[in-house]
Amino acid sequence: MIDGISAMIVNAKRQADNGVVYSPRQGALCPYCATRAKPYATRKWDGNLRIRFHLCRNQKCALSQMRISIKSIEEDTAGE
Ligand SMILES: [Zn+2]
Repeated sequence: MIDGISAMIVNAKRQADNGVVYSPRQGALCPYCATRAKPYATRKWDGNLRIRFHLCRNQKCALSQMRISIKSIEEDTAGE
């Protein structure tokens, strides 16, 4: 039996694993609490994609409390 909050956490963790969109303006938002997540690792550009890993710093957020890292994907669409 999984309650509504657990389902939200599972869903947010899945998004964190799969990667959220990285916005050049807003950065990556935590998929659970929508706070801007602080990047701790930035990969090199791979083609027009760049992967970052973030942690949510909102102490009330479940992803932050579980120290789940959030993957983000930035896509450079300029010049296409
Ligand atoms: Zn969060």
